[in-house]
Amino acid sequence: MGSVLPPDNHVHTQFSWDAPGAASMARSCEQALAVGVGCVAFTDHLDFTDWTDGDRIAEENLDPRRYSAMRLLDVGGYLAAIEDCRERYPDLRILAGAEIGEAHMFGASAAALVATAGFDRVLGSLHAIPFDGRLTAADQLFGVMPAADVMRRYFAEVVRLIEGSDIFQVLAHLDFPRRSWPQAAGPYDETAFEAEYRAVLRALAASGRVLEVNTKSPLLSVELLWWWRDAGGLAVSFGSDAHQPWRVGAKFKLAVDVVEAAGFRAGRDRFDFWRV
Ligand SMILES: [Zn+2]
Ligand SMILES: [Zn+2]
Repeated sequence: MGSVLPPDNHVHTQFSWDAPGAASMARSCEQALAVGVGCVAFTDHLDFTDWTDGDRIAEENLDPRRYSAMRLLDVGGYLAAIEDCRERYPDLRILAGAEIGEAHMFGASAAALVATAGFDRVLGSLHAIPFDGRLTAADQLFGVMPAADVMRRYFAEVVRLIEGSDIFQVLAHLDFPRRSWPQAAGPYDETAFEAEYRAVLRALAASGRVLEVNTKSPLLSVELLWWWRDAGGLAVSFGSDAHQPWRVGAKFKLAVDVVEAAGFRAGRDRFDFWRV
């Protein structure tokens, strides 16, 4: 019984500050094996709540507090849990990783931590953007300005993230605020933001990195993945962004269909990214 699904490169555990009580690394391993995901990367949130010398956020004089519950990852505890799960579930390939938020704002902090942690997968993500003197959670901006303006500000900041940090390998959920797109603004239309998507994809491809297909967000279209190829993108990563065990590998069959329709395939190493 070989696994049929790609690696789930974006899974949260009890070590993420926003994880619900049911989050469990061990149960996530069991779920992966049960649904045919042969490889998981545990990418708990690595969000800095303060800065050190060399972090851009200090130069820009921005308040870093974007979520009140945010706290720094317990890297030691996390790595010990990884080791424990590797022993308990030898049939599962378990990668250590992190999802770093706003890495371009915390470059020195992120570099110091990643240098010692030995991560296999580092995701870069943007959840908050500079607004009104602080890093502001993107979804909070929908109450402040037109919905399309939120997306445009977000995409512009994602380009700054990509160009301002090389610490991550995979860009997570490239259109994150889409998850909170207000109904009153009508159906979300990718083509309305084609120029902005293409700018993000060009920057990502130019730096030789990987685009995530995130199955917690509304699924990217086949056409958008063709924009990725047009931009020179060569690889995609699948990520459920699960914060609870039952979501590991969620909607992966559908995501595989979309990714294959855009011409990406599993490689000889089935635990690698899918490539053109
Ligand atoms: Zn995220
Ligand atoms: Zn995540």
